[in-house]
Amino acid sequence: MARLILTNAHLIPGDGPGRTGMTITVKDDRIEKVSNGPADAGPGDRVVDLGGRSVMPGMITCHHHAGYHQIGKKPLVVGFEAPPAFLALAGGRSMKLLIEAGYTGAVGAGNGFAMDASLKMAIEEGMIPGPRLVPCGRGISATGFSLDHQQPWYWHAPFIDVKTADGADGFRKAVREEIREGAEMIKLYSTGGHLSVTPGGQMEITREELAAAIQAAHAHGARIRTHASCAQATLEAIEAGIDIVDHADFLDEAGIEAFVKSGVFFVPSLRLATESKKHGFSQGTPGEMEAEMEHMRHMVPLANKAGVRMVLGDDYGIVIMDHGSQSEEPAFYVNEIGIPALDVIRWATINGAELMGRGHELGTVEGGKLADLLVVDGNPLEKMDLLTDKSNLLAIIKGGEFVKDELSRIPATERQRAMA
Ligand SMILES: [Zn+2]
Repeated sequence: MARLILTNAHLIPGDGPGRTGMTITVKDDRIEKVSNGPADAGPGDRVVDLGGRSVMPGMITCHHHAGYHQIGKKPLVVGFEAPPAFLALAGGRSMKLLIEAGYTGAVGAGNGFAMDASLKMAIEEGMIPGPRLVPCGRGISATGFSLDHQQPWYWHAPFIDVKTADGADGFRKAVREEIREGAEMIKLYSTGGHLSVTPGGQMEITREELAAAIQAAHAHGARIRTHASCAQATLEAIEAGIDIVDHADFLDEAGIEAFVKSGVFFVPSLRLATESKKHGFSQGTPGEMEAEMEHMRHMVPLANKAGVRMVLGDDYGIVIMDHGSQSEEPAFYVNEIGIPALDVIRWATINGAELMGRGHELGTVEGGKLADLLVVDGNPLEKMDLLTDKSNLLAIIKGGEFVKDELSRIPATERQRAMA
């Protein structure tokens, strides 16, 4: 089988600093080897001299709502903005835009119609392009709280993206039902806040409900996440054994310590609030979003420095951020939040792979791992903005197959040097 050999690469491995003059050999769906020697090309092998351009792991977003599709419209209740079949097509569009933005992995954060599970099947069958997906189902919320409040009760239609449950048995059953429909990631709502209707400081599920949901998810090998918009909700979720906390608004020192000790993942998702403010869009309690944002801009760099396992992801597809603009997120954390570039790469690659439970085969550029790779025209460690312009992605490779191949744009004199 012919191989792809990328020579003279600036390698960004995902778990450490960049190295120049590297050769990456891809055979079938895997990275055969990474070396700093010349290419040992055989007949039929394709050799590309990258002339110092970068090779990095495909990125992974860890908070993805494939079905969100409200861009440019008056905001409607998510899940009610269009019929289910239309939203499934919108979900397919979101997956295509995501991989074209350089993301070869995604973790769901809540969707109606068991849409993620179907999208995963369609991607694996090659029907539509898209990243490797950990499917999520509906968000589970206690009756009368958080997402159950997004619409008036007299509409007599359940909110499509939420499932209500009450008591430990109720939460256990709700988790099992989501798993039956294909969820491998369970989403809970510990509080309101973060652009939802009820206040973020209000605890909306009990410790017993939380523990039962976590136990039921783990018993089936599923992972579990919760929307937490106050310090208490974050701490309770970590203590109960959650796998990932969404938002963790109003995070405090005790929360950071608990994250570090437990190794629980944290998706700060600061882009939505920032973009909302820029575009004059607000929701929730007046001033809540601004206060939350100010606090988190200060705390997220501290959490990163302390060693919390941070990951990328946000609410794309609503109001002001369309799908595909995930390409702007790494630069956002470097330029606007002050996170070192190497750390943001780690969030986007190895940390995401570990959350997916696939750290052994994804997230770094190493011999034996799956070949999910990006070739970038330039060095993102020096200028992360390069990733926001999709024309700088010369190649997107998933499992050894090209999703995008514009390596021929590298001047021929450089490309052929290795062949001479
Ligand atoms: Zn979300």
